[in-house]
Amino acid sequence: MKKHVVGIDIGGTKLATVVADKTGHILSKVRKPTLSKKGPEYAIGLLFDMVREAVSQVGLKQEAISAIGVSCGGPLDTKTGVVYSPPNLPGWDALPLKARLESEFQVPVIIENDANASALAEFRFGGGRGYNAVLYMTMSTGIGGGIVINGEVYHGANDSAGEVGHQILLPNGPRCGCGKQGCLEALCSGPAIACRAQAAIQKQLEDEETVTAMLTLADGRIEDVKSEHVLAAARTGDALALELVQETAYYMGWGIANLVNILNPDIVLLGTIAVAAGDLLLDPIRETVLKFAMTRPAEAVNISPAQLGDALGDLAAVALVV
Ligand SMILES: [Zn+2]
Repeated sequence: MKKHVVGIDIGGTKLATVVADKTGHILSKVRKPTLSKKGPEYAIGLLFDMVREAVSQVGLKQEAISAIGVSCGGPLDTKTGVVYSPPNLPGWDALPLKARLESEFQVPVIIENDANASALAEFRFGGGRGYNAVLYMTMSTGIGGGIVINGEVYHGANDSAGEVGHQILLPNGPRCGCGKQGCLEALCSGPAIACRAQAAIQKQLEDEETVTAMLTLADGRIEDVKSEHVLAAARTGDALALELVQETAYYMGWGIANLVNILNPDIVLLGTIAVAAGDLLLDPIRETVLKFAMTRPAEAVNISPAQLGDALGDLAAVALVV
C-alpha cells in the first residue's frame, strides 16, 4: 500500500525534498541550492534527482509514493499547476510544474503558493490545530498570508486571496515592492522595520547626544541596522527601539484588526519576526486589535506566534498531500 508522500519546497535560494509518512512525520530530507540564475530547467532536473534521492534514503521504491505536494512562491495557478514568474525565481514564466512532475513520477501533484501552504501546515500540524478559521501571516522579508477555513485554503477567484501584506494603511506612506504606497508590508516587513529604524537613528543623532543600543549592536553602522537589532535593543530597555516596536505593533495590529473584522478568525498566527519577538511585540499587537477591531470578532480571536519554526517549509509541502 502507498503510505508515503513527497514534499517539495521551492525557494529562491534553497530547494528541499522530503519523504513523509501519512501523519506528516518527516523521514528523509535532501537540500540543495536553487542557483536560480541557472534557470528553471536546471532546477527541475535537480528536483527530479532530489526526489529520487529522498525516496531511496528511506529504502523505498518510487511506487511507494502516493502523491507529491509542492510549496512554491507565487503567482501560480493551483488548478493547472502553472507557475508564473515568482519574483525570486527568474525565468519561471508560465512553467507547467505540475505537469512536468506528474509525467516524471506518475503520481498526483498538488502545487500551492508558499504562504497558503504554510497556513495549511500550521492548521494541520502547528498552532492552528483544532480551529475552523485560521489566518497565518508571515512577517519576514515580506508579509504574506494564508487563510484556512474549515480545513481548506481559501483561494479566491484566481488564487490571489490572502495578500494580507498589501492592504494599504498609509496612502502616502513608503513605497511597497508591489508598486503601491503604504502597504502593511512596506511598514512591518523586516526590511521595512530596518528602514524606519535607520531613519529614526539618523534623526536621533542629529537632535540628541544619546546613542541607541541599536547602533552599538550594528557595530556603529546605521546602514547595517536590521529588525533583529531593534528587537535586541528593545529587550535591554532602549527607548528608541521600544518606540519602534510599539510603532510596528500599531501598524500590525491595525492591519490585523481589518482582517479580524472581515474574516472573524479563531486564531491569527504570526511568523518569523513575531516568533522571535514574542510578547514584546505580540502584547501591543493584541492591544491594538482590541482597540481597532469590532468587539465580537476581537473577543473571539487568539493572536499567537506560529509554531512550526524551521520545519515550516518541509511541512508546508507535506500538508498539501497528507
Ligand atoms: Zn504592497
